[in-house]
Amino acid sequence: MTKTITLATAVNPLAAKLIQRYQVTQEAIESAKNPRRMTRAEYQDYLATETWRATRDKALAHYGRKCYLCGASGDVQIDVHHNTYERAPGCELISDLIPLCRDCHERHHGGV
Ligand SMILES: [Zn+2]
Ligand SMILES: [Zn+2]
Repeated sequence: MTKTITLATAVNPLAAKLIQRYQVTQEAIESAKNPRRMTRAEYQDYLATETWRATRDKALAHYGRKCYLCGASGDVQIDVHHNTYERAPGCELISDLIPLCRDCHERHHGGV
């Protein structure tokens, strides 16, 4: 890990900052055309970070652990959805996020 960060620091200070602040991998940064716009892989990595967990908890504490669209709560899976990725990863405002149950979330993304 230390080696990766040292390498990235030498190549690109922005990449080093991203790795430090958001725990994204160097590979993810290199695969992204623009580090501000996350790739799918980068986003997946971000979802596994403490930064996202804290952001997600903040959103759930704000809205309550229930679906913003249908009101489902309790035994359902609640996801925190990004209304916008503009400030992601790591600087999301509460208004950038909403809690959605898995069903509404998939519907919202036009899934099955
Ligand atoms: Zn719902
Ligand atoms: Zn979503």
